[in-house]
Amino acid sequence: MDCGIETRCIHGNLEKFEKDKTGAVSFPIYQTATFAHPEVGVSTGFDYSRLQNPIRERLEKVMASLEGGTDAFAFSSGMAAVTALMELFKPGDHIIAEADLYGGSIRLFNNISSKNGISFSFLDCSGDNIENYIKENTKAVFIETPTNPMMNVTDIRKISETAKRHNLLLIVDNTFLSPYFQNPLKLGAGIVVHSGTKFLGGHNDTLAGIIVTNSEEITEKLRFIIKTVGSGLSPFDSWLILRGIKTLSVRMERAQANAERIAAFLLKRPEIKMVYYPGIKGTRAYEICKKQARGFGSMLTFETESRELALHILKSVKLIQFAESLGGTETLLTYPATQTHADMPEEARIKNGIIDRILRLSAGIETAEDLINDLEQALY
Ligand SMILES: *Cc1c(COP(=O)(O)O)cnc(C)c1O
Repeated sequence: MDCGIETRCIHGNLEKFEKDKTGAVSFPIYQTATFAHPEVGVSTGFDYSRLQNPIRERLEKVMASLEGGTDAFAFSSGMAAVTALMELFKPGDHIIAEADLYGGSIRLFNNISSKNGISFSFLDCSGDNIENYIKENTKAVFIETPTNPMMNVTDIRKISETAKRHNLLLIVDNTFLSPYFQNPLKLGAGIVVHSGTKFLGGHNDTLAGIIVTNSEEITEKLRFIIKTVGSGLSPFDSWLILRGIKTLSVRMERAQANAERIAAFLLKRPEIKMVYYPGIKGTRAYEICKKQARGFGSMLTFETESRELALHILKSVKLIQFAESLGGTETLLTYPATQTHADMPEEARIKNGIIDRILRLSAGIETAEDLINDLEQALY
């Protein structure tokens, strides 16, 4: 049955879990490390929870269905998922990566993956022609769109065509738009990765990471990696993320509506020099996003007239909280220069535009007027 995305958020691919005889509407948490075998050579389908657990499997099926992939993997965090992806490569391999990636991914690439012999070229994948940077040992392209925090939008179809021509694996971090608004696999990507901590979980209470693919070869490799390195998501956290996903569609719509209202408010304020939000008509980001996504999301970044004002806002907001992370029911403000992107080399940070007057806002699902009033009172 080919159901709409709102239905699939709740019911996944409509497969009933065969082993549950109680009719439980909420998927049961199997809080067990190991599973007994009926006899030698016979398995219930589950052996040990590092390999697989029924509720993690359920979450993975729902995510595969939402992203249009054949298989998915749930990890203990977004970074655990990105780390597992790096195990697909070997010393000597080269990867082209978006320069404005999530700071933690850049920290991983520069400090751990590079130590393991993988090299990176960081580019503005929304603007630069990646073709000029492809080398003989280039194996993959790793992008985020919209980027974090500058909200640059990359044309996924176009970059996937280039990647295919050169036999490169295209990896898209789809955290910011979530599968509700954007499905990179359908636009030609080979792998989609998520920080499930953000929109999927949606309540700022659980860490998780997700990888989705439609390649059998990658699935086999990832299955080996997740069972070997042991970074799979726990049963209880799988349940929390599954529960979060049930309301993904209504949360995404509501948070986006709030972001649009906040963007419109900020655009009218003289103290705000720039608002980066893909939903602003007439921008390049808007045009590309419109072609490849069903929405613009609820993340926006803005530049205040001075560093002092940025710090003043962070100190003065009352309802909005000054905290890292995004994608939850609560509206959060982040100061990328000293928080999410603190470990990025300063030169690269400033080149990307992450200056000390920049604030990033993740719109939650509170009453729009309350959020705007809070920002208004915080502006001197
Ligand atoms: C938060 C985030 C990550 C890392 O995920 P964790 O769950 O915090 O480990 C990766 N990519 C993006 C875009 C993120 O926002």
